[in-house]
Amino acid sequence: MKSKTEELSPRPLSLSIRRGMAGNCPHCGKGKIFGRYLKVLPECAVCHEDLSPQRADDLPAYVVLFIVGHIVIGGMMTVETYWEWPVSWHIILWPILTLILSLTLLPRVKGAIISLQWALRMHGFVTPRDRNTPKFPNAQEVVP
Ligand SMILES: [Zn+2]
Repeated sequence: MKSKTEELSPRPLSLSIRRGMAGNCPHCGKGKIFGRYLKVLPECAVCHEDLSPQRADDLPAYVVLFIVGHIVIGGMMTVETYWEWPVSWHIILWPILTLILSLTLLPRVKGAIISLQWALRMHGFVTPRDRNTPKFPNAQEVVP
C-alpha cells in the first residue's frame, strides 16, 4: 500500500521557489507567472497550470520591507559609524536605494511566495488527482 505522500505528484520546494523568483511558472519553469509587473496570470501559458488560487496578498510587501529595511538601516548605521557624509548625500542616496531595492525585490519575492504556496499545495493549488487522496479529503470545497 502506498503512503499518502507517494500518492501526490512531487512538487520540489526549492526548485519551485527558484522558478518563482525568476518570474516563471513553479510547475514547468518555462511559462511566466506575471502578465505585468505584479499582475499574476490566471494560468501558465506553457503547461496551463492554474495560478488563480494564489493568495500572496500583502506578504510580499512585508517580506520586502523586512529585507530592504535591514539593508538600508544597516547601511545608514555603517556609514554613520565609519564616515562623515554630508546630510545631502544621505537625503539623496537612501531614498533612491530604498526605491530601487523595493521595486526590484517585489516581483521576485511575490513569485517566490506564489511558488511556495503551489509547492505546499496551499489554498486551491490542489490538482484533481490530489483531490482523490486521503491528504486532501475536503479539497473539493476549496476550489469552486
Ligand atoms: Zn507552467
